[in-house]
Amino acid sequence: MNSQTKIEEAGFTPASRIAAIGVSKILQIGARAAAMKKDGLPVIILGAGEPDFDTPDTIKAAAKAAIDRGDTKYTALDGTPELKKAIAEKFRRENNVDYALDEITVATGAKQILFNAFMATVNPGDEVIIPTPYWTSYSDIVEICGGVPVLIPCDAEAGFRLKAEQLEKAITPKTRWVLLNSPSNPSGAAYSETDYRPLLDVLLNHPHVWLMVDDMYEHIVYDGFRFVTPVAIEPRLKSRTLTINGVSKAYAMTGWRIGYAGGPKALIKAMAVIQSQATSCPSSVSQAASVEALNGPQDFLKERQASFKHRRDLVVSALNAIPGLACRTPEGAFYTFSGCAGVIGKVTPKGKRIEADSDFTDYLLEDAHVAVVPGSAFGLSPYFRISYATSEAELTEALKRIADACAKLV
Ligand code: PMP
Repeated sequence: MNSQTKIEEAGFTPASRIAAIGVSKILQIGARAAAMKKDGLPVIILGAGEPDFDTPDTIKAAAKAAIDRGDTKYTALDGTPELKKAIAEKFRRENNVDYALDEITVATGAKQILFNAFMATVNPGDEVIIPTPYWTSYSDIVEICGGVPVLIPCDAEAGFRLKAEQLEKAITPKTRWVLLNSPSNPSGAAYSETDYRPLLDVLLNHPHVWLMVDDMYEHIVYDGFRFVTPVAIEPRLKSRTLTINGVSKAYAMTGWRIGYAGGPKALIKAMAVIQSQATSCPSSVSQAASVEALNGPQDFLKERQASFKHRRDLVVSALNAIPGLACRTPEGAFYTFSGCAGVIGKVTPKGKRIEADSDFTDYLLEDAHVAVVPGSAFGLSPYFRISYATSEAELTEALKRIADACAKLV
């Protein structure tokens, strides 16, 4: 992948399944920014993919109670009955979808759900259609599992959304999955029911293609956007759809590592085979906390949404006031994915020509001490991603520095 740097160590040869993959660009930038900060430079990091809020106290209390009553042992392989029940109720209450307990799986983060699903289904050479920009892990996990990511560019003009004609054209006899993520990391774009409908119609005509949907940012949407998951729109696809979600983003629980999914029983069973040899089960304490997250009070979700919306508006308007940048207003998540075509070809005060978005983000880190991630890391250029899950003061200062840095380009 062009967004990655290969692992190279003298005397060590990695297995071929990871030879072309390596350490993610996002982690590399994060490490470089952290090192600069340690050296005393005033670096502002807008790279993190996690809410800056704390896990709510009620959820922490449920975890403490679980420890005290001895819920500290292995649990059922792919989730405790209590958590599966809470997930089934969540799917019914919030998504209008019915999943039985044996159609639900719980793993160590949604990332492991993706990994289990691809490991359990992808044979060498099988294709997985992924619209770009995409969350970097998607293509890497597919490749580790021996599959072939088929990347379809969906730029800002297309609202960063896949169109039915593009999907139809990309499907081959080897297509195993289509992977859709709404709201999206990194673009923040979301699919309404109207956006989804033509895509689901295409899938109805191709019974060998399965649909994987990543609803991780469901609760972070703005301006009255009505979140909907595909199975609720088209129940005929339920028998070949995996609906992925998790507690990381909505409940500020990234470190607890709990993700879950609903899907057909046979797929859920196959995923359990992978999990049984990888982790045995997700953390018992985190599962108890997640029961409280899903069953407990939900009112803080609205407050946090309002706070994210305020920051989204601040960042989008500041970016659009900078000549050379153009930012579409995202419907959800906590990222902006701004175009930077207007700075490509310009020259920095040190005489370096900006040839690509990664040159621009390198320049922002070196000159403005602001760490952001280039579009190339997400498979679409020239763009860059800002995570605005940080304080308003930091965002204001970072945007001022970006504006000053852009003004210095000739
Ligand atoms: N899906 C998307 C779109 C994400 O951005 C992330 C986290 N960055 C995940 C899934 C994985 O979340 P987790 O493993 O923490 O549940």
